[in-house]
Amino acid sequence: MAKSDRSSKRISKVSLKRSLRLYGFMRPYKWPFILGLACLVVSSSASLLVFSSLGKLIDFQGEALGQRVNQLTLLLGGVLLLQALASFLRIYTFAWVTQRTIAAIRQAVFDKLLSLPVAWYQKQRSGEISSRVTADISAVQDSLTTYLAEFIRQIIIVFGTVFILMASSPKLALFMMGTLPVMAVLAVFFGRFVRKLSKKAQNEVAESTHLLEEVLQGISTVKAFTAEWIQSARYKKLTDAVIHTGMRNAVYRGLFAVFIILFLFGAIISIVWYGSHLVAQNELSHGDLFSFFMLSGLMAGSVGGLADTYSQMQKAIGATESLLDILDARVELSELKAPQSLPKPKGHLRFEQLSFSYPNRSEQQVLQELNLDIPAGSTCAIVGSSGAGKSTLSYLLMRFYQPSSGRILLDGQDIADLDLGAYRSLLGYVPQDVMLFSGSIRENIAYARPQAAQDDIEYAAEMANAAQFIEELPQGYNTQVGDRGTQLSGGQRQRIAIARAVLANPSLLILDEATSSLDTASEKLVQEALERLRKGRTSLVIAHRLSTIRNAQQIVVLQNGKVAETGTHESLLQQGGIYAGLVRLDEGSNA
Ligand code: ADP
Repeated sequence: MAKSDRSSKRISKVSLKRSLRLYGFMRPYKWPFILGLACLVVSSSASLLVFSSLGKLIDFQGEALGQRVNQLTLLLGGVLLLQALASFLRIYTFAWVTQRTIAAIRQAVFDKLLSLPVAWYQKQRSGEISSRVTADISAVQDSLTTYLAEFIRQIIIVFGTVFILMASSPKLALFMMGTLPVMAVLAVFFGRFVRKLSKKAQNEVAESTHLLEEVLQGISTVKAFTAEWIQSARYKKLTDAVIHTGMRNAVYRGLFAVFIILFLFGAIISIVWYGSHLVAQNELSHGDLFSFFMLSGLMAGSVGGLADTYSQMQKAIGATESLLDILDARVELSELKAPQSLPKPKGHLRFEQLSFSYPNRSEQQVLQELNLDIPAGSTCAIVGSSGAGKSTLSYLLMRFYQPSSGRILLDGQDIADLDLGAYRSLLGYVPQDVMLFSGSIRENIAYARPQAAQDDIEYAAEMANAAQFIEELPQGYNTQVGDRGTQLSGGQRQRIAIARAVLANPSLLILDEATSSLDTASEKLVQEALERLRKGRTSLVIAHRLSTIRNAQQIVVLQNGKVAETGTHESLLQQGGIYAGLVRLDEGSNA
């Protein structure tokens, strides 16, 4: 028990230290921040001054009473004005610093997400990342704008009031403070609970968001199988869990409020009782007692607030921890800049004894000692049943993952030794599921070369058989593609992706053919464009339809992660093996 206590304490110390690193983003704005702090000190001290002076107003007696009262009131009015100004300036400068700090954190997290390897994303769920990052950043923002200032103000008030109270009446001050440590201890316990529960609540909310996204994406499948009720029940289970955790959280907050109220009110009554005795014994004036109550109220409010602020800061620490998990994850690109260029390669590809298993499923060997030689400028088509490892091969070529053993050589050089950005800029990828980004058609074609001239873009579109349909659109190249390109047909999206590749002018091409989902007319256009694109470039084609790859210089049949057969269309047909069987099946289904 004692041991686990110690270790949990150590963890929280480490986590605090780690979290403070995030405040490093504030460093460039140190001076405005210090100005804000100074304003905070001024406004907090001013409120101490006003509260402690009120008693004096009551105690004034004798000649010129009215005049002295007026003078002091006027002075207090001046102090209030100063306090108001300082408060405004503090809020303004803190916001100035926070906005810039948060923007820097946002940018750092975004850039980090861009440079994380695909393997990292495999371990996460995308809905979870975005909702968590959003929630975490807003928690950090709250802590910077509000809670940090509150925390400092409350500390100043607490120490200031203790000092003034001790100076005015040590007996009464000690009597009042005898109960404070209890509060402090309660605050710490409460903070621990909330920290644990808020993390749990965040996870649960992320889980329900994930289900929502999944259902929205697959809404047609849900409907087709009349699985609405199943999904609804799943969602209900998740939202119930959120309620449960939220309510448990509320109970602890509520209990804490109960303690504070009972304790505070009890304390106030006993202090009034003891203070009245001291006045009766002439140890304290009425004015002193009045000031004492005012200051005690101020202090009690700040101590109570301190516990709350403390728990909010704990929450922010939880949030910074998960942001730091992202910021500390290992990157694949060390800098986000336009990639340097490598000399144009000839394009001879060799896969040597290539073995691979996915990091999250290490027991399954997806590729097993695969050997393959693709001469420069030739097309190698990979066929094989679903799950044979075709896509995996292309991922390794794109360096999304690292081989477990073996190598991939480009012109005799291990691609793992090349600068990642420079290497990838040699590649062109036309995926099965084309992703267009919101923006115009022009922007989407010029994705890899934003500065490309209009002539080049039009040429690329021409080569990709896309120019005609683009020019027929009312806004031509300036047509907005809509969210993820939903306003274009599948074949049109594919041809834009091909134009994108033509413009990028890559040395190596990876084509994940998806013409099977297209109608014959669009398929013909896409095929033609692809053939043009392949000319003179080393190409790896993941073939889904055998009819489209007859002309490939090399066809490789992949089975269980190994090369089962290799040859040209004719030679493989003659062999009468797996490929010949597949062709017969294909022809049968087309007949
Ligand atoms: P193909 O493209 O030939 O259909 P894949 O390369 O997609 O095959 O998949 C090969 C094998 O690797 C399959 O058994 C599949 O289940 C597995 N696999 C694919 N992607 C992953 C992944 N991200 N994590 C774990 N296993 C995967």
